[in-house]
Amino acid sequence: MDKILCGVDIGGTKCSVALVDTTGKIIDKIFTCAHADATEEGLVNLVTGHIKEICQRNDLQESDLQGIGIGCAGHIRFRDGVIITTSNLKGFKNYPLRDAVQSSFNIPVILDNDANAQAFGEFKFGAGKGFNDMVFLTISTGIGAGIIINNKLYRGATGTAGEFGHTIVDPNSELTCTCGNKGCLMACACGMALPYLFKQKIRMGKKSKLDLPHNFNMAKMSGQLLKKGLDMDDPVSKEIILDSGYYVGLGIYNIFQALNPPLIVLGGGLTNWGDFYLNKIKSTFYGFARDMIFDPIEIVISDIGDDAGVIGAAALTLD
Ligand SMILES: [Zn+2]
Repeated sequence: MDKILCGVDIGGTKCSVALVDTTGKIIDKIFTCAHADATEEGLVNLVTGHIKEICQRNDLQESDLQGIGIGCAGHIRFRDGVIITTSNLKGFKNYPLRDAVQSSFNIPVILDNDANAQAFGEFKFGAGKGFNDMVFLTISTGIGAGIIINNKLYRGATGTAGEFGHTIVDPNSELTCTCGNKGCLMACACGMALPYLFKQKIRMGKKSKLDLPHNFNMAKMSGQLLKKGLDMDDPVSKEIILDSGYYVGLGIYNIFQALNPPLIVLGGGLTNWGDFYLNKIKSTFYGFARDMIFDPIEIVISDIGDDAGVIGAAALTLD
Protein backbone atom coordinates (compact mmCIF):
# COMPACT_ATOMS: atom_id res chain seq x y z
CA MET A 1 0.00 0.00 0.00
CA ASP A 2 1.22 3.52 -0.81
CA LYS A 3 2.07 5.56 2.26
CA ILE A 4 -0.26 8.37 3.31
CA LEU A 5 1.02 11.96 3.33
CA CYS A 6 0.31 14.23 6.27
CA GLY A 7 0.14 18.00 5.71
CA VAL A 8 -0.11 20.88 8.18
CA ASP A 9 -0.92 24.37 6.89
CA ILE A 10 -0.40 27.16 9.43
CA GLY A 11 -2.29 30.13 7.98
CA GLY A 12 -3.27 33.50 9.36
CA THR A 13 -6.82 32.54 10.33
CA LYS A 14 -6.84 28.75 10.01
CA CYS A 15 -4.49 25.92 10.90
CA SER A 16 -5.34 22.75 8.96
CA VAL A 17 -4.09 19.20 9.33
CA ALA A 18 -4.91 16.73 6.55
CA LEU A 19 -4.19 13.22 5.37
CA VAL A 20 -3.58 13.18 1.62
CA ASP A 21 -3.08 10.24 -0.72
CA THR A 22 -0.22 10.03 -3.23
CA THR A 23 -2.43 11.47 -5.98
CA GLY A 24 -3.05 14.65 -3.98
CA LYS A 25 -6.58 13.77 -2.85
CA ILE A 26 -7.63 14.69 0.69
CA ILE A 27 -8.61 11.67 2.80
CA ASP A 28 -9.52 13.58 5.96
CA LYS A 29 -8.99 17.06 7.36
CA ILE A 30 -9.17 18.86 10.72
CA PHE A 31 -8.90 22.59 11.17
CA THR A 32 -8.72 25.00 14.08
CA CYS A 33 -8.55 28.76 14.56
CA ALA A 34 -7.15 28.43 18.11
CA HIS A 35 -3.53 28.63 16.88
CA ALA A 36 -3.53 32.36 16.19
CA ASP A 37 -3.11 33.30 19.87
CA ALA A 38 -1.18 30.19 20.89
CA THR A 39 2.23 30.28 22.53
CA GLU A 40 5.07 28.39 20.87
CA GLU A 41 4.46 25.37 23.09
CA GLY A 42 0.69 25.69 22.61
CA LEU A 43 1.06 25.57 18.83
CA VAL A 44 3.25 22.47 18.98
CA ASN A 45 0.73 20.71 21.25
CA LEU A 46 -2.12 21.74 18.96
CA VAL A 47 -0.40 20.46 15.81
CA THR A 48 0.88 17.18 17.29
CA GLY A 49 -2.50 16.57 18.96
CA HIS A 50 -4.38 17.04 15.68
CA ILE A 51 -1.97 14.77 13.79
CA LYS A 52 -2.45 12.01 16.37
CA GLU A 53 -6.23 12.52 16.38
CA ILE A 54 -6.58 12.37 12.60
CA CYS A 55 -4.44 9.20 12.43
CA GLN A 56 -6.45 7.56 15.19
CA ARG A 57 -9.83 8.24 13.62
CA ASN A 58 -8.59 6.80 10.30
CA ASP A 59 -7.06 3.70 11.95
CA LEU A 60 -3.57 4.65 10.84
CA GLN A 61 -0.26 4.09 12.64
CA GLU A 62 2.58 6.57 12.42
CA SER A 63 4.41 4.02 10.25
CA ASP A 64 1.60 4.28 7.63
CA LEU A 65 2.68 7.89 6.99
CA GLN A 66 5.35 8.99 4.52
CA GLY A 67 6.14 11.96 6.74
CA ILE A 68 4.72 15.23 8.02
CA GLY A 69 5.02 18.39 5.93
CA ILE A 70 4.37 21.76 7.57
CA GLY A 71 3.78 24.94 5.54
CA CYS A 72 3.95 28.26 7.37
CA ALA A 73 3.90 31.84 6.08
CA GLY A 74 6.95 33.96 6.74
CA HIS A 75 10.70 33.54 6.50
CA ILE A 76 11.69 29.93 7.13
CA ARG A 77 15.28 28.74 7.47
CA PHE A 78 14.63 25.43 5.72
CA ARG A 79 17.90 23.70 6.58
CA ASP A 80 17.38 24.17 10.32
CA GLY A 81 13.57 23.95 10.34
CA VAL A 82 13.29 27.34 11.99
CA ILE A 83 10.62 30.05 11.66
CA ILE A 84 12.79 33.20 11.40
CA THR A 85 9.80 35.58 11.35
CA THR A 86 6.10 35.19 10.63
CA SER A 87 3.28 37.70 10.84
CA ASN A 88 0.71 34.92 11.34
CA LEU A 89 1.81 33.92 14.84
CA LYS A 90 2.37 36.45 17.58
CA GLY A 91 5.84 36.61 19.09
CA PHE A 92 7.35 33.76 17.05
CA LYS A 93 10.98 34.59 16.24
CA ASN A 94 13.76 32.13 15.40
CA TYR A 95 11.57 29.31 16.65
CA PRO A 96 12.68 25.71 15.83
CA LEU A 97 9.17 24.44 15.05
CA ARG A 98 10.34 21.44 13.00
CA ASP A 99 12.36 19.88 15.82
CA ALA A 100 9.68 20.70 18.38
CA VAL A 101 7.11 18.69 16.35
CA GLN A 102 9.72 16.06 15.42
CA SER A 103 10.25 15.22 19.12
CA SER A 104 6.81 13.52 19.15
CA PHE A 105 7.28 11.47 15.95
CA ASN A 106 9.78 9.04 14.40
CA ILE A 107 8.82 9.76 10.76
CA PRO A 108 10.45 12.76 9.01
CA VAL A 109 9.01 16.23 9.71
CA ILE A 110 9.65 18.97 7.13
CA LEU A 111 9.00 22.71 7.61
CA ASP A 112 8.90 25.14 4.71
CA ASN A 113 7.38 28.42 3.64
CA ASP A 114 3.69 28.06 2.68
CA ALA A 115 4.22 29.34 -0.86
CA ASN A 116 7.04 26.83 -1.41
CA ALA A 117 4.70 24.11 -0.16
CA GLN A 118 1.93 25.21 -2.53
CA ALA A 119 4.42 25.37 -5.40
CA PHE A 120 5.48 21.80 -4.74
CA GLY A 121 1.86 20.66 -4.47
CA GLU A 122 1.16 22.28 -7.82
CA PHE A 123 4.23 20.58 -9.28
CA LYS A 124 3.28 17.12 -7.96
CA PHE A 125 -0.51 17.17 -8.28
CA GLY A 126 -1.62 20.21 -10.28
CA ALA A 127 -0.77 22.14 -13.43
CA GLY A 128 2.95 21.37 -12.97
CA LYS A 129 2.58 17.62 -13.51
CA GLY A 130 4.90 16.55 -16.32
CA PHE A 131 7.15 19.63 -16.08
CA ASN A 132 10.71 19.60 -14.67
CA ASP A 133 10.81 23.34 -13.98
CA MET A 134 8.12 25.86 -13.05
CA VAL A 135 7.40 28.94 -10.99
CA PHE A 136 4.32 29.31 -8.80
CA LEU A 137 2.91 32.65 -7.65
CA THR A 138 0.12 32.98 -5.12
CA ILE A 139 -1.68 36.31 -5.28
CA SER A 140 -3.95 37.19 -2.37
CA THR A 141 -3.40 39.73 0.45
CA GLY A 142 0.31 39.44 -0.30
CA ILE A 143 2.26 37.63 -3.02
CA GLY A 144 4.23 34.46 -2.33
CA ALA A 145 6.11 32.25 -4.74
CA GLY A 146 8.01 29.02 -5.14
CA ILE A 147 10.56 27.91 -7.74
CA ILE A 148 10.97 24.32 -8.99
CA ILE A 149 14.21 23.60 -10.84
CA ASN A 150 15.07 20.09 -12.02
CA ASN A 151 12.14 18.57 -10.09
CA LYS A 152 13.27 20.12 -6.77
CA LEU A 153 12.28 23.22 -4.86
CA TYR A 154 14.97 25.86 -5.22
CA ARG A 155 15.35 27.50 -1.80
CA GLY A 156 18.53 29.60 -1.98
CA ALA A 157 21.08 30.07 0.81
CA THR A 158 18.65 30.71 3.68
CA GLY A 159 15.48 29.18 2.25
CA THR A 160 13.84 32.44 1.23
CA ALA A 161 14.39 32.20 -2.56
CA GLY A 162 11.43 33.20 -4.71
CA GLU A 163 10.26 36.20 -2.69
CA PHE A 164 9.11 37.80 -5.94
CA GLY A 165 6.50 39.77 -3.99
CA HIS A 166 9.33 41.96 -2.72
CA THR A 167 10.94 42.59 -6.11
CA ILE A 168 10.53 46.28 -6.87
CA VAL A 169 8.41 47.09 -9.92
CA ASP A 170 7.90 50.83 -9.32
CA PRO A 171 10.51 52.61 -7.16
CA ASN A 172 8.57 55.89 -7.51
CA SER A 173 5.37 54.36 -6.15
CA GLU A 174 3.70 55.84 -3.05
CA LEU A 175 2.73 52.33 -1.97
CA THR A 176 4.79 51.06 0.96
CA CYS A 177 5.24 47.31 1.34
CA THR A 178 5.20 45.30 4.59
CA CYS A 179 9.00 45.11 4.18
CA GLY A 180 9.30 48.91 4.32
CA ASN A 181 10.32 49.45 0.69
CA LYS A 182 8.17 51.35 -1.77
CA GLY A 183 6.88 49.84 -5.01
CA CYS A 184 7.33 46.13 -4.27
CA LEU A 185 5.26 43.91 -6.58
CA MET A 186 3.01 42.97 -3.67
CA ALA A 187 2.59 46.57 -2.55
CA CYS A 188 1.35 47.49 -6.05
CA ALA A 189 -0.55 44.44 -7.21
CA CYS A 190 -2.37 42.44 -4.57
CA GLY A 191 -4.99 42.61 -1.83
CA MET A 192 -3.05 45.00 0.39
CA ALA A 193 -3.02 47.62 -2.43
CA LEU A 194 -6.75 47.55 -3.18
CA PRO A 195 -7.98 50.12 -0.61
CA TYR A 196 -5.39 52.66 -1.80
CA LEU A 197 -6.05 52.03 -5.49
CA PHE A 198 -9.81 52.37 -5.04
CA LYS A 199 -9.50 55.64 -3.07
CA GLN A 200 -7.10 56.99 -5.68
CA LYS A 201 -9.54 56.32 -8.56
CA ILE A 202 -12.38 58.00 -6.65
CA ARG A 203 -10.13 61.00 -5.87
CA MET A 204 -9.45 61.27 -9.60
CA GLY A 205 -13.20 61.77 -10.05
CA LYS A 206 -14.05 58.28 -11.33
CA LYS A 207 -17.49 56.93 -10.45
CA SER A 208 -17.94 53.38 -9.22
CA LYS A 209 -21.13 51.39 -9.79
CA LEU A 210 -20.43 49.46 -6.57
CA ASP A 211 -23.15 50.37 -4.11
CA LEU A 212 -20.97 51.08 -1.05
CA PRO A 213 -22.50 52.60 2.10
CA HIS A 214 -21.48 56.21 2.92
CA ASN A 215 -19.52 55.11 5.97
CA PHE A 216 -17.83 52.22 4.12
CA ASN A 217 -14.47 51.44 5.69
CA MET A 218 -12.16 51.55 2.68
CA ALA A 219 -9.68 49.23 4.44
CA LYS A 220 -12.29 46.51 3.73
CA MET A 221 -12.01 46.96 -0.05
CA SER A 222 -11.31 43.41 -1.21
CA GLY A 223 -10.78 41.22 -4.22
CA GLN A 224 -14.27 39.79 -3.71
CA LEU A 225 -15.88 43.25 -3.86
CA LEU A 226 -13.95 44.07 -7.02
CA LYS A 227 -15.08 40.73 -8.51
CA LYS A 228 -18.64 41.87 -7.85
CA GLY A 229 -17.74 45.15 -9.57
CA LEU A 230 -16.22 43.30 -12.51
CA ASP A 231 -19.38 41.21 -12.92
CA MET A 232 -21.54 44.37 -13.00
CA ASP A 233 -19.18 46.09 -15.47
CA ASP A 234 -18.01 48.71 -12.94
CA PRO A 235 -15.31 50.84 -14.64
CA VAL A 236 -13.39 51.54 -11.39
CA SER A 237 -13.20 47.86 -10.40
CA LYS A 238 -12.13 46.93 -13.92
CA GLU A 239 -9.39 49.57 -13.98
CA ILE A 240 -7.96 48.35 -10.67
CA ILE A 241 -8.00 44.73 -11.87
CA LEU A 242 -6.20 45.79 -15.07
CA ASP A 243 -3.61 47.80 -13.08
CA SER A 244 -2.98 44.82 -10.84
CA GLY A 245 -2.73 42.52 -13.87
CA TYR A 246 -0.21 44.88 -15.43
CA TYR A 247 2.12 44.66 -12.43
CA VAL A 248 1.81 40.87 -12.20
CA GLY A 249 2.57 40.64 -15.94
CA LEU A 250 5.63 42.85 -15.42
CA GLY A 251 6.69 40.68 -12.46
CA ILE A 252 6.37 37.54 -14.60
CA TYR A 253 8.45 39.18 -17.32
CA ASN A 254 11.25 39.73 -14.74
CA ILE A 255 10.94 36.10 -13.62
CA PHE A 256 11.07 34.98 -17.24
CA GLN A 257 14.33 36.87 -17.79
CA ALA A 258 15.86 35.46 -14.59
CA LEU A 259 14.80 31.82 -14.88
CA ASN A 260 13.25 31.15 -18.32
CA PRO A 261 10.72 28.65 -16.91
CA PRO A 262 8.37 26.78 -19.28
CA LEU A 263 5.44 27.19 -16.89
CA ILE A 264 4.08 29.82 -14.52
CA VAL A 265 1.15 28.75 -12.31
CA LEU A 266 -0.92 31.42 -10.56
CA GLY A 267 -2.90 30.69 -7.39
CA GLY A 268 -4.45 32.70 -4.57
CA GLY A 269 -7.73 34.56 -4.10
CA LEU A 270 -7.28 37.25 -6.74
CA THR A 271 -7.16 34.67 -9.53
CA ASN A 272 -10.95 34.54 -9.03
CA TRP A 273 -10.96 37.64 -11.23
CA GLY A 274 -10.64 35.09 -14.05
CA ASP A 275 -9.86 35.60 -17.71
CA PHE A 276 -10.26 39.39 -17.66
CA TYR A 277 -7.34 39.49 -15.20
CA LEU A 278 -5.32 36.66 -16.76
CA ASN A 279 -5.56 38.21 -20.23
CA LYS A 280 -4.08 41.49 -18.93
CA ILE A 281 -1.27 39.58 -17.19
CA LYS A 282 -0.50 37.71 -20.41
CA SER A 283 -0.72 40.71 -22.73
CA THR A 284 1.61 42.69 -20.45
CA PHE A 285 4.08 39.81 -20.27
CA TYR A 286 4.07 39.22 -24.03
CA GLY A 287 4.33 42.98 -24.61
CA PHE A 288 7.62 43.11 -22.68
CA ALA A 289 9.00 39.76 -23.80
CA ARG A 290 8.20 40.39 -27.51
CA ASP A 291 10.59 38.38 -29.70
CA MET A 292 12.72 37.13 -26.77
CA ILE A 293 10.59 34.01 -26.29
CA PHE A 294 12.19 31.11 -28.15
CA ASP A 295 10.28 28.25 -26.55
CA PRO A 296 6.69 28.20 -25.33
CA ILE A 297 5.90 29.49 -21.86
CA GLU A 298 2.54 28.68 -20.34
CA ILE A 299 0.83 30.97 -17.83
CA VAL A 300 -2.11 29.20 -16.19
CA ILE A 301 -4.35 29.48 -13.14
CA SER A 302 -4.11 26.72 -10.49
CA ASP A 303 -7.03 24.32 -10.27
CA ILE A 304 -6.13 22.74 -6.90
CA GLY A 305 -8.52 25.10 -5.10
CA ASP A 306 -9.11 25.95 -1.43
CA ASP A 307 -7.04 23.12 0.03
CA ALA A 308 -3.88 24.03 -1.93
CA GLY A 309 -2.07 25.02 1.29
CA VAL A 310 -2.49 21.75 3.16
CA ILE A 311 -2.12 19.57 0.02
CA GLY A 312 1.13 21.44 -0.74
CA ALA A 313 2.37 20.90 2.81
CA ALA A 314 1.68 17.18 2.45
CA ALA A 315 3.50 17.16 -0.91
CA LEU A 316 6.68 18.39 0.84
CA THR A 317 7.10 14.85 2.19
CA LEU A 318 7.71 13.71 -1.43
CA ASP A 319 10.52 16.25 -2.10
ZN1 LIG B 1 8.37 44.38 -0.03
